[in-house]
Amino acid sequence: MDELFSGRKLRVLLYGRNLEDLRPLLQGFPLDIVQEDPELVITHGGDGSLLGAERLYPGIPKCPIRDRRQNPKCARHAESSTLEKLFRGELQKSYPSKVAAYFEGEEPRLLGLNDLVLSRGLLSSAIRYRIWVDGQLFCPQVVSDSLVLSSPFGSTGYFQSITHGNFKAGLGLAFNNAMDGLDFCVLPEDAVVKVQLLRGPAQLLADNNPQLCELQDNDCFKAKLNEAQTLFYGMDVFRCQECYQLRRNGC
Ligand SMILES: [Zn+2]
Repeated sequence: MDELFSGRKLRVLLYGRNLEDLRPLLQGFPLDIVQEDPELVITHGGDGSLLGAERLYPGIPKCPIRDRRQNPKCARHAESSTLEKLFRGELQKSYPSKVAAYFEGEEPRLLGLNDLVLSRGLLSSAIRYRIWVDGQLFCPQVVSDSLVLSSPFGSTGYFQSITHGNFKAGLGLAFNNAMDGLDFCVLPEDAVVKVQLLRGPAQLLADNNPQLCELQDNDCFKAKLNEAQTLFYGMDVFRCQECYQLRRNGC
């Protein structure tokens, strides 16, 4: 049994959109809705709500629920049944790792649950960059619109829209619109990647975080997967393919 759901009242913070639709569904469960120091965050919305909640409340367990106004559910995944499973401690647990970007020092400057994206700063000009992996020169020069450094968790997002595939383990690099047709690679999970911008300007972003890092020519950063710290409940429900087909078909 998950000790979080042993029956005592939980301090739960709600995050996302249309929370007035979520609140009535929570009546009857052992919880107090709080604005700070939560033990559990329930996000209501899409991927953006989950990414934003993890940025604001890193390390706090999270359960993402899709907002029903925009997201129809398949027969197995009504919000109420997902919440019942959550409070019975029956939802699938996962501990996704994040992609961390380092400039100077030991502390990561940016953390992406899904990915880091090195993106061109000028729409009219591609960026050029060089990549080392574990100290060895890996790509002397890549010319592309952007470089995506993806976690397995994020590989069904931007990485997949570039490469048409995803992965379960490792650190993925996707080269968006690369000049020589370079597409992607998936490195071991302990790989340390160093990227040097040869021709910019460029911006480095993490997930949907509006705070980004500006890079000029010759600037470098390192990236690697960080040890997983946050427990997520019910990612299998959140990413159900049947629910996805209903969304996609506009039901
Ligand atoms: Zn479903």
